[in-house]
Amino acid sequence: MQQPNLIPDYSFLERAEAAGPFNAAQCFQCRKCTNGCPASFAMDLYPDQVIRLAVLGRKEEVLQCRTIWICASCETCTTRCPNEVRIAELMDYFKEFAIRAGVVPAQPQVSSFHQSFLENVRATGGRVHEASLLPAYWLKAGQVRSKLKTGELRNEIKQGLKLLRKGRLSTAPTLIRGKAEVKAIFRSSK
Ligand code: SF4
Ligand code: SF4
Repeated sequence: MQQPNLIPDYSFLERAEAAGPFNAAQCFQCRKCTNGCPASFAMDLYPDQVIRLAVLGRKEEVLQCRTIWICASCETCTTRCPNEVRIAELMDYFKEFAIRAGVVPAQPQVSSFHQSFLENVRATGGRVHEASLLPAYWLKAGQVRSKLKTGELRNEIKQGLKLLRKGRLSTAPTLIRGKAEVKAIFRSSK
């Protein structure tokens, strides 16, 4: 990971709040968010630390941390926060910001999965199609060759075929009625 620039950028939080608001400045560091977070064991910064760094304008540390990619968007933190800081949504905002700013994701596989998931939902018109999502993710994450080498790919395909036979996976995506609305959401979020 490259060394972060420690010069504060106070416009970072202003821009985030203009896109939110997320109420980050209301944080008084009680750590209720972190204490309830089921993914904190895998994070390099705790959720309260991400909020603090954002308030301090430490943009690069926020955008380069693993935490924003590890966050599972479960919203436990947001529910527990006594100050209505919208932590989970802020984590999503930071992910988008990092991608737009060309910051290399600290968890590239998670980033590949996010992108594959959204591309899949866009292609199917609203509902994820699991049978095509996984191969698309392997391709995007550059995992096909290593899976071929280790024999993992063959095992995964076997499992997939088993699930197909049992009717637990469908060959075609499920169509939904709100396709136009989903299309409009993708259009508005670019
Ligand atoms: S729960 Fe809310 S106020 Fe407490 S540390 Fe987390 S964000 Fe800050
Ligand atoms: S939304 Fe993210 S940061 Fe908040 S509790 Fe869930 S995993 Fe942790």
